[in-house]
Amino acid sequence: MSVNQDPQKNQHAIPSYLNADDIGAWGIFLQQVDRVAPYLGSLSRWIETLKRPKRILVVDVPVELDNGTIAHFEGYRVHHNVSRGPGKGGIRYHQDVNLSEVMALAGWMSVKNAAVNVPFGGAKGGIRIDPRKYSSKELERITRRYTSEIGLVIGPSNDIPAPDVGTTPQTMAWIMDTYSMNTGATSTGVVTGKPIYLGGSLGRVEATGRGVFTVASEAAREKNIDLQGARVAVQGFGNVGGTAARLFHEAGAKVVAVMDHTGQLYNDKGLDIYALLEHVQKTGGIKDFADADVISADEFWSTKTDFLVPAALENQINERVANMIDTKILVEGANGPTLPKGDDILKEKGIFVIPDVVANAGGVVVSYFEWVQDFSSFFWTEEEIHQRLVRIITDAYRSVSEVASRHQVSLRTAAFIVACERILEARQIRGLYP
Ligand code: NAD
Repeated sequence: MSVNQDPQKNQHAIPSYLNADDIGAWGIFLQQVDRVAPYLGSLSRWIETLKRPKRILVVDVPVELDNGTIAHFEGYRVHHNVSRGPGKGGIRYHQDVNLSEVMALAGWMSVKNAAVNVPFGGAKGGIRIDPRKYSSKELERITRRYTSEIGLVIGPSNDIPAPDVGTTPQTMAWIMDTYSMNTGATSTGVVTGKPIYLGGSLGRVEATGRGVFTVASEAAREKNIDLQGARVAVQGFGNVGGTAARLFHEAGAKVVAVMDHTGQLYNDKGLDIYALLEHVQKTGGIKDFADADVISADEFWSTKTDFLVPAALENQINERVANMIDTKILVEGANGPTLPKGDDILKEKGIFVIPDVVANAGGVVVSYFEWVQDFSSFFWTEEEIHQRLVRIITDAYRSVSEVASRHQVSLRTAAFIVACERILEARQIRGLYP
């Protein structure tokens, strides 16, 4: 990889393949790594390792569409760091996917996997495509061609993809089948987040929401907030937000406000979460749900709550939104929902933020369980999965919280400290080859 080494020109060594004036999400990741460097002691001599993805593969994905034309899509797979184990991270199908974003998401996966101490490095992939515009048959051909192109770098011991925005258990099944056809052996462990019939794990679907609820409960315990009767707002009522809302509701909390791509709802007594989940299942969104008031987006963000769970998209909490937020604990279910300036304002306002790399790690933890179960061909009960998930997430939260108190830093910085120490320790002990 050729890099621009001119320190006068760039604070960081900007890879020549990114636009030096706007390096996008990767720039945010570099800033976060820089913020951690002073806490790493002698390990900081290895810090450049984190600022350079180990391996980047950009592939052309040509495919014949249903109407007979040939389309080409740009695909990526990035291994950010594999010092602690094989690469692990999702595959995103979205029209805005770009190399900088995939590099940053791979970097955040290295941090997340190390923060919760699962034995994986960080990887991520994606195709620049709006999947809603293509038929299922077209998506199957695109996925199979993309899998063949990245087949050079994925594998149960090298790099294990999983679903992300725009991809599903069905996408994982196509990847698993294509990889297995190309290698000549059925290889269930090459992806996680698979359907149960193909070696998927029980408990995977609700794992991320359960992790969100677990860290929120730990923080509530630390801060003496009673979950019984606590007020909760949730942005995004899909896999993560819907599950987290249900678990809060079952713990006696009141989910008073929700927002999704179809609008915002409020009920001061607490929404009937089971009925709302059923409504979303039937209609695709929260719109037109009876027994709630429709509110504006600004009213949603300003709702006074004990817990706010952004569980929709990235870049939601900018300066303006952060100024409106009135909550005690913000639990990042989504990846990257808070922009750095929003984060600063939340800090000034004394809002306790549980960062994505810990709060939404439940998904990758159960993906780890799935991978282990596939290797041993021995499957655990849902109860075992839940118990092990809660134990790992709780331990991770407590060690990050302890580092935050010791260094008097935010949980986000503390999570980076814990994770970067683990990654760079591994790097140092392995030593440089040759
Ligand atoms: P999902 O597709 O099931 O749900 C997304 C929700 O966001 C939907 O309710 C949708 O209506 C809502 N939404 C979309 N656009 C919106 C907008 N403009 N305004 C408000 N709401 C909007 O997705 P998910 O799996 O629940 O993922 C949500 C977030 O959690 C993503 O950031 C994802 O990367 C992250 N995440 C998911 C997992 C997982 O295991 N599913 C793991 C880690 C992180």
